[in-house]
Amino acid sequence: MSVTNRFGAELPLPEALLPLRDLARNIWWCWDTEATALFRDVDPARWDEVRHNPVRLLDGVGEDRLCALAADDLFLSALKRVYDRFKAYMNGDATQAAADMGDKTVAYFSAEFGMHESLPLYSGGLGILAGDHLKAASDLGTPLIAVGLAYHFGYFHQHIGLDGRQREDYRRSDFSMMPMALQCDETGAPIVLSLDYPGRTLLAQIWKIQVGRIPLYLLDTDVDGNDEEDRAITAHLYGGTEDTRVRQEILLGVGGLRALTAVGLEPDACHLNEGHSAFLAVEQIQRHMTDDGMDFKSACAAARARNVFTTHTPVPAGNDVFQRDHVGEYLRPYADSMGVDLNDLINLGLVDPADGREPFGMTVLALRLSRFANGVSELHGEVARDMWQFLWPDSDLDSVPIEHVTNGVHMPTWIAGELDGMYCEHLANDPVTLPHDVFWAEHERRRGHLVQMVRERMIRQARREHASAEEEDTVARILDPHALTIGFARRFAPYKRATLMFRDAERFARILNDIDRPLQIIIAGKAHPRNEPGKDLMQEIWNISCQPEFRQRLVLVENYDIDLARHLVQGVDIWLNTPRRPLEASGTSGMKAAANGALNLSVLDGWWCEGYEKNNGWAIGANRNYNDHEKQDAEDAESLYSLLENEIVPLFYDRGDDGRPTEWIKRMIEAVEAVIPQFSTARMVDEYTDRFYVPCAMDD
Ligand SMILES: *Cc1c(COP(=O)(O)O)cnc(C)c1O
Repeated sequence: MSVTNRFGAELPLPEALLPLRDLARNIWWCWDTEATALFRDVDPARWDEVRHNPVRLLDGVGEDRLCALAADDLFLSALKRVYDRFKAYMNGDATQAAADMGDKTVAYFSAEFGMHESLPLYSGGLGILAGDHLKAASDLGTPLIAVGLAYHFGYFHQHIGLDGRQREDYRRSDFSMMPMALQCDETGAPIVLSLDYPGRTLLAQIWKIQVGRIPLYLLDTDVDGNDEEDRAITAHLYGGTEDTRVRQEILLGVGGLRALTAVGLEPDACHLNEGHSAFLAVEQIQRHMTDDGMDFKSACAAARARNVFTTHTPVPAGNDVFQRDHVGEYLRPYADSMGVDLNDLINLGLVDPADGREPFGMTVLALRLSRFANGVSELHGEVARDMWQFLWPDSDLDSVPIEHVTNGVHMPTWIAGELDGMYCEHLANDPVTLPHDVFWAEHERRRGHLVQMVRERMIRQARREHASAEEEDTVARILDPHALTIGFARRFAPYKRATLMFRDAERFARILNDIDRPLQIIIAGKAHPRNEPGKDLMQEIWNISCQPEFRQRLVLVENYDIDLARHLVQGVDIWLNTPRRPLEASGTSGMKAAANGALNLSVLDGWWCEGYEKNNGWAIGANRNYNDHEKQDAEDAESLYSLLENEIVPLFYDRGDDGRPTEWIKRMIEAVEAVIPQFSTARMVDEYTDRFYVPCAMDD
C-alpha cells in the first residue's frame, strides 16, 4: 500500500524560503544549533510566543517579514548551509552496529516520547529517554521505527499558586500545527485501524512524526465512529482510571503492531520501553497461530524470540497491574480468535495462577515474552534481578536473565550550542586542550542566562497569580548571576527526597547565606496530578523558599519541561541528586549537566555509581544500602552539608589572579570528558543493537 503524507498546515512561503517548510516537517532541526537559530531568526518574538514550534511560527509570519527574509543574503546563505547539511544527514552512512542489522528493522514501543518542548507527548524521564533513543538511532543510522500514542492534551502544564499548591493546566494540542502527518491510503483517505474491544470495535488513525531518519507512528482514537469514552483514550498521558490504562495499553501494543502493518512495515524485532506496550505479544502470538499455523506454545516461543524488554522501575508500585477479570474482558476476543482458553492468555501475566488474588502484571507479561530483558544501570540490573527472581525459581540470583544497559543522553540535544564546536576542536586532543578562559566565560554567560530565565518565569507566575507589586519586584531580582548555583529538578516522588537538604534547615541557611561565598539553589519538578503527598512536598519547599533566610537563595520554579531542563543543565555549577538508594534506576539529568561542565553531587545510585570518578563530582553518603530510612537520611544529610561546607564552596570560590577558579574548571573538564563517551545514547543504542537487536532480528 502506498502511503501519502498529508500535512495539516499549508505554509505559503516565497520560493527562496521553501526549504524552511521541509526543515519544519522533520524535527532534526531541534538538535542542530544553527537550524534552531534559523527558525528563531525568522521572528524572535514570535518564536517565544509559539513555544519554539516552527510549524506555528511559519504559519503566522507576516508577509513583510517573509519578503525581507527572502532578500536577506545572510539568512539565505545560512538557510542553504543548514538545508544542505540536513540533506546530507538524511543520506548519511550507518555505524557498524547499525549496519549489522542488514535489511532488518526493529520497532521501538513507548507510552511517551520527549523530544522537544513543542511536542507535549511526554511526562518525564521515561519519555526523554525514548526521545533521545530515537535521535541517536537517527544519527547512527539504526534501522528503527517507533510507535506511541498521539495524546491530544499531553501532560499538564504546572501552575503553582501563591500558597505553593500545584494546579494542573491542560491545553489541547492542535495536531495540524505540529509536524505530524496523518497517514493516508492511495486514495487520500486516512488509514483507520479497527480493534476488538469488549462489545464494540475501536477505531484509530495514525500520525507520523519524522525524527531525523526515524519515523515515529502515533495512534489516535479521536475519530468518528468511536463513542466519547473511546475517543478520549488518547486524550491524556497516563490519564484516568485503571480502565483507561488498559484501553491505552491494548491500543499501544496490539494497535501499534497493526498500525505498522497498515503502513506497510513488518518489524523483525520489537523493543518494549517499559511494560506499557507488552500486549503486543498477544498480537504476535495471534499472528503466529493464524498465519503460521503454530500451536499456542510454539507461538509464544516464536513471539518471545523477537522481543527486547527494558524495565525502568525498582519500585513495585511503578509496575502496572490490572484486575485479571478486567484484562480478561479485553483479551477474550483474542482468545476466541486463537481458539485458546482465555485463562491461557491471562496466565501469561501471572506469576502463580493458583493464587486467585494475584493481579495481571504488565512487567510479568513482558518478562515472560521477551528474549532479552534489561535494567538501565549496573546497580539497577542487580536490583531488578533480585526483584523478579521469583519468576525463575530454579535460578540463583546471578543467573536471573535480566541484564543491564546503562542509560545515556543525546549529547547534541543537551550540550549548549556554543560548546559543540569547542568540544570538537579540543576534546579529541590528548591532553585535552579546552581553553579555560573561553570555557569559563561561556559557562558564566549561561549561568546568567539561566538566572534571567528563572526571573522571567517567576514574574509571569507572580502576575498570573495576582501577587503584590512588592512581591513581583522581589522575584524580579531573585538570585545572583555570579553565585555558586545548584540545580535540583525532578518529579516530586518521595524516594527522590527533595526535602533532604532541609533536614537541618538552619545549617543549610547558613551555607546559603555566606556573604563572601554565597550558594543558591534552583528547584523544579512536577507531582503526578493524583499524587497528593508529592504536592504536599512541593508546598513544603515553596513555604521554605518564602522564609526570609531562603528568599533570595532558593527558588521553586514552576513547569519543569524540556526547555527549562535545557537551561538548568547548561547553566548550573552543581547538579544535586538525593534519591533513596537503590530506588533511582538510572537518572539521566545528571549526565546532561555533566556534559555541560556541571559537577554532580549525588548519592551513589543509578548511573552515578558508574559515572563517579573522584574528580568529576562528589558522592553523597556511602556506597551501601540501608534498611533503616531514618539512619540513611541522617547520614546522607550530614554528608551533603559537610561536602558543601568543606569542599564544594571553598573550591568554587578559590580564585586565581585572573578571577577564575582554576581547580574547579579542571574538574568541569574532567566531568565533560568522563561523561560524553560513556553516557551518550550513541553508546547506548549501539549496545542495544549489538547485544539484543541483531540477535533478535537475525534469528530465522
Ligand atoms: C532529563 C529529564 C528528566 C529525567 O531526569 P532524571 O534525572 O532521570 O530524573 C525528566 N524531565 C525532563 C524535562 C528532563 O529533561
